[in-house]
Amino acid sequence: MFLHRAFYETREGTGAVVHLHSTFATALSCLADTDPDDCIPPLTPYVVMRVGAVKLLPYVKPGDTRMGEMICDLGGRCAAVLLANHGPVVTGTDIASAVYAAEELEETAKLLVLLRGAPRRMLSPENVAELKAVFGRA
Ligand SMILES: [Zn+2]
Repeated sequence: MFLHRAFYETREGTGAVVHLHSTFATALSCLADTDPDDCIPPLTPYVVMRVGAVKLLPYVKPGDTRMGEMICDLGGRCAAVLLANHGPVVTGTDIASAVYAAEELEETAKLLVLLRGAPRRMLSPENVAELKAVFGRA
């Protein structure tokens, strides 16, 4: 509950929080080389539009109140986080938007796993800035 409450208390406009143990996002959360500051990088416009930047939070055991503290420490800057060796937590203005964002995060995680080891063409910082300007998701 504190996991969800931490988002409601720190991220204005949060109306729903979805937490999953979905396969591909959890797989990314277990990889040693996942970037903790940008663990779901901008591979497609939809992940930028629906999810935004995602931080990987360090592992703590399920039920550990430090999960909530780590989310509070983000100060509402992230709409979603990935819990190391655990799974994603995704917010939205309502349950539908949170579920759509969680689906987008999972599908992007799947693409990242499928493309692992292959040269990837990511969206450029200019592409991401354009999407944020038009669609407003941070
Ligand atoms: Zn869990």
